[in-house]
Formats: sequence, structure tokens, C-alpha cells
Amino acid sequence: MAALRRLRKCPSTGIVISHLHTSSRASAKQHYKMLVLGGGSGGITMSARMKRMMGAENVAVVEPSEMHYYQPIWTLVGAGAKSVASSGRPTASVMPPGVKWVKSKVQEINPDTNTVRTDDGTEISYEYLVVALGLQLHYDKIKGLPEGLEHPKIGSNYSIQTVEKTWKALQNFKEGNAVFSFPNTPVKCAGAPQKIMYLSDAFLRKTGKRAKANVIYNTSLPVLFGIKKYADSLWEVVKRRDLQVNLRHNLIEVRADKQEAVFENLDKPGETKVFEYEMLHVTPPMGPHSVVKGSPLADEAGWLDVNKDTLQHNKYPNVFGIGDCTNLPTAKTAAAVAAQSAILNRTISKILKNEKPDKKYDGYTSCPLVTSYNTVILAEFDYNGQPLETFPINQAKERRSMYHMKADVMPHLYWHGLLRGLWGGPGPYRKLFHLGMK
Ligand SMILES: Cc1cc2nc3c(=O)[nH]c(=O)nc-3n(C[C@H](O)[C@H](O)[C@H](O)COP(=O)(O)OP(=O)(O)OC[C@H]3O[C@@H](n4cnc5c(N)ncnc54)[C@H](O)[C@@H]3O)c2cc1C
Repeated sequence: MAALRRLRKCPSTGIVISHLHTSSRASAKQHYKMLVLGGGSGGITMSARMKRMMGAENVAVVEPSEMHYYQPIWTLVGAGAKSVASSGRPTASVMPPGVKWVKSKVQEINPDTNTVRTDDGTEISYEYLVVALGLQLHYDKIKGLPEGLEHPKIGSNYSIQTVEKTWKALQNFKEGNAVFSFPNTPVKCAGAPQKIMYLSDAFLRKTGKRAKANVIYNTSLPVLFGIKKYADSLWEVVKRRDLQVNLRHNLIEVRADKQEAVFENLDKPGETKVFEYEMLHVTPPMGPHSVVKGSPLADEAGWLDVNKDTLQHNKYPNVFGIGDCTNLPTAKTAAAVAAQSAILNRTISKILKNEKPDKKYDGYTSCPLVTSYNTVILAEFDYNGQPLETFPINQAKERRSMYHMKADVMPHLYWHGLLRGLWGGPGPYRKLFHLGMK
């Protein structure tokens, strides 16, 4: 907030000037050495790193949102363990000082002319481009859902508009089915759809309502979790706590007025099953960002087509990508963004010197699987789906210490380490804890 207060408006140009950074809708300077698209986890991180590499005056970030959110904490917000206010800070306060903030939406990327166009018609040219636009949520792809979200008893931790509705629905639960969905698309943080199930179960137990509840997880996937080591532990939790898991069940319709959710059996296309609910948590279908999908930068599926080792674009050597918008074959998480940022920083520094990129991203990603209000299984793995654990203990075990990592340590690392370009993932600590063996 202090940063916001320091902002002052320059009346003649309409340009907002701060002691920290400059921000504009229509800027006089339309060319930047480094242009970053998106000011989320990956975009802010890379702009901080690029500022150190080439000076603040050479870096601009295009980001329309006034607020920056730490999305991983929404799992705990939906379960009432953290406030929604704790998840957001003004974008002005996380933008690296001196870096130009272009407060607009990118509408078009033209890598053949090294330009982008924003929604107010401004054309910005660049020498190097980092794309960090994230992915898109498609609540609209489920029949009846957009209007259904107006009703109580439905929540979704995946958006700032609906995360508090999850907590309200949980608090108002009386008896019946608590249903949790996982869509038939790639998602960000593939553990989040089931974390809220475990937390809801824990809440219902704490409040004495569990005996009157059926807790049901309907997932499109053929497995509970993609990495066997952690899936085995999660199945034990599911059995111990009498949770019902239905694999290959995909949410296709919500009838909010009747409190019914319709799932398709993916193994028997066309066969549907109706679940009545007292509470429904929806993880929406997700897909590539439309601006990336509609550009020459996309692969066939619409994701940003980057080299999986170096994060450099496969066709345009002055374009790079990070985070959820890319086709990197690993789980889409902020933890992955951290590890990617260190590699991408190295790749760009080499390209600037006309040298070959020499460091390879191993696909590191992490998912703190919250199983209650004080336990977490900390999944960490690589491109091959092999566990790549930081601590020299079995992380597939539910642990109180890992809950504190998730709830208290990681937010701090995010705001003060990652966003300042100072946290490149736990790799060095992993080496240290394993005496250089991993
Ligand atoms: C409920 C939930 C739980 C999660 N849990 C975890 C977890 O436990 N651990 C973990 O590591 N990760 C977790 N994640 C995932 C993590 O938040 C994302 O993977 C991460 O934020 C990806 O960073 P990004 O920069 O790729 O995308 P984002 O951080 O989403 O940033 C994209 C940015 O692009 C901007 N943008 C969009 N369109 C435009 C446009 N046209 N022009 C300009 N800018 C635009 C957006 O405003 C946004 O700021 C969770 C996410 C959710 C929703």
C-alpha cells in the first residue's frame, strides 16, 4: 500500500509516475529491449531478473490487472484457513522499481515483425520477448455453470471471484453429498482439486457433520495423482477417511436450482450420472491463452511452443516462455515457474552474448498436497515423473512440518524471493541436504 500511496499522477501526459516504477496506458516510448507479457508469477519474476541483467529502462511488462494474487493460497482460503485479502497485493507493489508497467491487455503477438498490439491499439516493438500469459479458465464450457456460480452451495478455488464461495458453502453444509470435480483438460496445480476435498472432510469432522456427509471426488483422470509414490499415499488417506473416489468422471452440467451435477463416464461416452449435492466444488476446464493460441507462437494444441530444456521458442529465437502458457511437459505450478526462471535467466544471458544456452530445465515441479488443516504430503518431481525431493525424508508421508512450509514459508518465499527474481527453486538446497547426491 505504501508503494501505491507513493504513486503520483502527471496530469499533462496521463502517465502515472512512481518512485518505484512507471506505468502507462499509452506510452511515448514504444520500443523495449525486453518486453514481458503478463505480470503474474512468471512475468514479475522474469522482469525482476531482466532488470538486473539489462537495466530497468530496457524492460517493460504488459499486465492489465491492478492486483497480483498468490494463487496457491486460495486452497486454504476456500477452506477458511487464510483470508482472501492475504492472497493479493497491488500490482504496483510487486512491479520491479523502474521497470515500465504497460497497464493494458495484449491482444495480438506478431513475432515476424517483433511487435505486439494491445487492446487500446498501441503497437509495442521489442528485441526480446518473454511470454508469461498464464492459461485460461473455461467455466463457460460446463453447461449451466456460469449462472450456477451465482447460487450458494457452489464454489471454485480457481478464481478470486468464487474462492470465498467455497468456504461459505462448506460452513453452510448440513447433510448430503459434498462433490469435488477435476476436469478433462490440463489444469494448473493438479493437486488443488483434491486438496479442498481433504480440507472439507477435515472441517466436517471438526464440526461434527461428517456422519451425515458423503465426500465424493469425481475426476476425469484414470488415477488419483499422476506420480505413483504420492498416489499410493493419497489412496491410503482416501480409504482411512472413507472418501469416495470415482475415476474417469467428467463434470458436464450443473443444475444449480435442483442442486444436481451431471458427470459423463469417460470410459462409456454418452453415459451420464447425476449427483445431488449439498456442496459442489468445481475445478473448471482450462486451456491455452487465446492470444498465444491465435499467434504463430503456438504449437498444435495452442500452447506456447518452447524448447523443453532452454525455454527458448522453437521457431523464434528472440522469444522465450515461462509458466502455465507454455507446452513444457510438466505440471503447471508456481514451483515450476521458480525453477524455470533460473534456467530462463541463464538461457537469455547466453543468447545476449551470442553463446549457446548451456543449462537444462529438468521439469522440476512441486505440489504440496494438503490433506488436513495441519498435514501435507509434499510432492516434488521432474519431467520423467520421478520424485525429486528437497528434504532427506520420505515426503510421501503426511507431515505437520510440510503444512507449515505450505501455509507460512512458501508465501514468504513467493513475495520476497520469487517475485524479486531471487528464488530459482530448491535445487541448491536439495543438493546440500542430499550431500551432493541428487
Ligand atoms: C487454486 C490454486 C492452487 C494452486 N496451488 C499451487 C501450489 O500449491 N503450488 C504451486 O506451485 N502452484 C500452485 N498453483 C498454480 C500457480 O498459481 C500457477 O501455476 C502460477 O501462478 C503460474 O504462473 P504464470 O505466470 O504462468 O501465470 P499467472 O500467475 O496466472 O499469470 C498470468 C498473468 O497474465 C496476465 N494476463 C492475462 N491475459 C493477459 C493479456 N491479454 N495481456 C497481458 N496480461 C495478461 C494475468 O492478469 C496474470 O497476471 C495454484 C493455482 C490455483 C488457482
